[in-house]
Amino acid sequence: LNRRLAEFGTTIFAEMSALALSTGAINLGQGFPDTDGPEEIREAAVRALRDGRGNQYPPGPGVPELRTAVTAHQQRRYGLSYDPDTEVLVTAGATEAIAAALLALVEPGDEVIAFEPYYDSYAACIAMAGGRRVPVTLRAHEDEGRFRLDLDELRDAVTDRTRLLLINTPHNPTGTVLTRGELAAIAELAVERDLLVVTDEVYEHLVFDDAEHVPLATFPGMRERTLTISSSGKTFSFTGWKVGWVTGAPELVTAVRSAKQYLTYVSAGPFQYAVAEALSLPESYFTDFRADMLSKRDLLAAGLAEAGFRVYRPSGTYFITTDVRPLGETDGFAFCRALPERAGVVAIPNAVFYDHREEGAPFVRFAFCKRTEVLEEAVKRLKA
Ligand code: PMP
Ligand code: GLN
Repeated sequence: LNRRLAEFGTTIFAEMSALALSTGAINLGQGFPDTDGPEEIREAAVRALRDGRGNQYPPGPGVPELRTAVTAHQQRRYGLSYDPDTEVLVTAGATEAIAAALLALVEPGDEVIAFEPYYDSYAACIAMAGGRRVPVTLRAHEDEGRFRLDLDELRDAVTDRTRLLLINTPHNPTGTVLTRGELAAIAELAVERDLLVVTDEVYEHLVFDDAEHVPLATFPGMRERTLTISSSGKTFSFTGWKVGWVTGAPELVTAVRSAKQYLTYVSAGPFQYAVAEALSLPESYFTDFRADMLSKRDLLAAGLAEAGFRVYRPSGTYFITTDVRPLGETDGFAFCRALPERAGVVAIPNAVFYDHREEGAPFVRFAFCKRTEVLEEAVKRLKA
């Protein structure tokens, strides 16, 4: 393994899912639903396969049906207009979109600012691109019950070498959803310092209570400097299909495509047609999906609190970050390694998402995208 990748080893998700399999523990670690997405969308995939749509290389930017569905979704939901021919690129999940964007835009030595804790692929992809990651820590505010961005820290992190801000809202693993005010401040900073922005909005449909998902690209001066990433894995519960997309100004999307064509070239032909249909589902699909996840959040959050964890109730995503210190524990890593044997449950230690490991040490993440009876059983075990 070369020096760029040596520090990354095996992803925590693979490690913890393997532990779940070998111990038979309930897997609340890796974020994937235990119920597949809509039957009619699975049927759409079968139809595409059978009718011979997408069984050979689809077009490089993605099939026109999906690109059009992506732009219609952005227009309908957010009032953002994109040209399906020049401003959309279909990728192998959000993961490839992130990788291709960083490989395309970052010069060796460029600084990339990302929130810490960060989704694990960010650090690895910044490294593969030869960039330097500059973490800005989202800090736990016990009184507010959430993790919050310190805008001054973000401003201070920008230097003459900063190339790009890598934003994630709703944020994995903390569940924080950036507010309009925070996003406006980020946008002002990006314009003032002439920065590119890559924004990972894969949980755009998973926001709860009075939180609102506002795409960064909607703020003044942002459309031309922002690449927005999303994915069908989270919104439609098909994490195995690996259909994601990027939207943004033509020069930026073309740059990402330059990198993408040598990574996977194209992918998931028949699934692209099915995801086009998914994006066109009636509004009730999205409302019901959100309501279902909200009830799961409430169930698991209450259970974790009763079991003695300090719970940071998420405003978005399908993850709950907890603090294990009220349980008399200090090391989330050791806690997660022992939890399958101890309680028959798998969780993720947030420390792996930090450069400042000590900041993340006491935090542990649980996924709630699971059937109600599974969550109830997990809660029962944790309480015991
Ligand atoms: N970004 C974030 C914040 C994620 O949580 C995930 C996956 N869960 C991804 C990107 C990757 O998405 P995909 O499965 O579409 O590659
Ligand atoms: N995004 C998922 C999570 O955060 C996992 C995806 C993966 O395993 N790469 O749990």
